[in-house]
Amino acid sequence: MSKDLFLSTFKNFITQYHNVVIVSHVNPDGDAVGSSLAFSYFLQKFGIKTKVMIPNDFPGFLAWMPGIDEVLIYDKNSEKGVQCLNETDLICYLDFNAPSRTGLMHNDLCHCTKTPKLLIDHHRDADFTQFAAYLSEVETSSTSELVAEIIQYHGFDKYLDDNIATCLLVGIMTDTGSFAHSIYHPDTFEICGKLISPTVNYQYIHSKIYNTFSENRMRLLGYCISNRMTVMNEFNTAYIYLTKKDLEDFDYQVGDTEGVVNFPLMIDSIRMAVLITERQGVIRFSFRSKGDFSVHEVARAHFNGGGHLNAAGGTLNCTIEQAIEKFLQVVPQYKSLLTK
Ligand code: 5GP
Ligand code: MN
Repeated sequence: MSKDLFLSTFKNFITQYHNVVIVSHVNPDGDAVGSSLAFSYFLQKFGIKTKVMIPNDFPGFLAWMPGIDEVLIYDKNSEKGVQCLNETDLICYLDFNAPSRTGLMHNDLCHCTKTPKLLIDHHRDADFTQFAAYLSEVETSSTSELVAEIIQYHGFDKYLDDNIATCLLVGIMTDTGSFAHSIYHPDTFEICGKLISPTVNYQYIHSKIYNTFSENRMRLLGYCISNRMTVMNEFNTAYIYLTKKDLEDFDYQVGDTEGVVNFPLMIDSIRMAVLITERQGVIRFSFRSKGDFSVHEVARAHFNGGGHLNAAGGTLNCTIEQAIEKFLQVVPQYKSLLTK
């Protein structure tokens, strides 16, 4: 479905649907929450009743965002979540494209076979057959940028307000690492220029996102780099691992490991950086790369995951020791790509 076809189909949807649920992915990040809230505010301008639903809690650095108090966190109130899904006449998937990315919400979403679904996303490997309409652009910084484009098509002068602009800036800023990567065309900067205004201050938003560490979070970051980072020079790769006990020792709060995986990439020779974390019952992998090395491929082929060229994630059901061992077996297979 081309962007033009999506935009005209979506125009019809606005008059057709009155009760819309917007869902995003597990461990929601700034783009998941920002794009969902902005899209929700936008739909409300047409008299549509909306509910934003995320599988589990958002990180503390997003707690100040406009509209965040109204977000339904499925794993805290799954009964209400199921009720919302049953009553809605359109389900919108934002910032993910497969139900498996919604954690415990997965089963209930899959039961909604009769409810039409709309997709707005920038991840790879989408299966479009399940969507009544989709805007899926892999070479766009963020889902928030796509939502901004939709709103711009209807007219920023009519529909943009401070809440929407703030949410969209959070999404674009966090998915591009403050405009350091994942920028494929100048539109990203142009659209952000239009979101900033005398009452929407970029520096204020940036500070709310990045300068709100707890002391524990800062010390955990130091520990990761000095005690838990292994540099595999032969493969231009570095990894950090964190056990459940490490997280407990630093009184881990949701979001405290956000950004940790980016630090090893600051070493000149490093092409791939990985964070391996022991979570409840599963091992989470977070991958980042520089240049054309695809961590999406690595995550997809070996770690039940995926994502983007330079940022991806995955999970394994095993112990942390087994997860590290598997990772150490996988890396040499990519030696030629990592060292070329
Ligand atoms: P993060 O490392 O920040 O959790 O994720 C990096 C990127 O990969 C994000 O865009 C995220 O949506 C995507 N991602 C993370 N985990 C998975 C996964 O298990 N499967 C897929 N398909 N994408 C993932
Ligand atoms: Mn995103």
